[in-house]
Amino acid sequence: MYASRNISLCTKDCLCLFVCPTGATDTENGQIDREKCIDGCRKCVDACPSHAISLVFEEYPEPIPGDADLSGMMLGLLQKKSSLEAAASALAGEKTDPGAVKLAEALRRSFRIVGEDCAREAGFLLPQCDPVRKLKEVLDLTDIGE
Ligand code: SF4
Ligand code: SF4
Repeated sequence: MYASRNISLCTKDCLCLFVCPTGATDTENGQIDREKCIDGCRKCVDACPSHAISLVFEEYPEPIPGDADLSGMMLGLLQKKSSLEAAASALAGEKTDPGAVKLAEALRRSFRIVGEDCAREAGFLLPQCDPVRKLKEVLDLTDIGE
């Protein structure tokens, strides 16, 4: 394992520079020097008050291939949930009674959450992966960009 710094969390108080035995944390570009990091001793991880440093693995296993049948089923379910979400949204816009609006809005959110779960289970998780591009085509969302 080796240490990796999340620059956006780093508050630059330099504690990791003092504890690292190899100087791996002291770099000009803010990234921890992987060559100098000695097998993840984690002194910097424990010292960082901002939780900006994590230990990461050298190698990760290959992702498990998705099940095409399951993906197809989940995609169908996602399309149904999307339609129901749109219907609930329209209903919320039509109603004037506060209770009815609240109910329609709750339904809309519920269908959205279930739809997102379906998308996740179908493997549509990474925003730029091939399944997501295919999903955008199916749902006619290609005009919203990459
Ligand atoms: S200890 Fe954490 S917050 Fe401080 S410089 Fe290092 S990474 Fe940044
Ligand atoms: S894990 Fe140890 S060697 Fe690696 S950067 Fe942190 S303090 Fe330095």
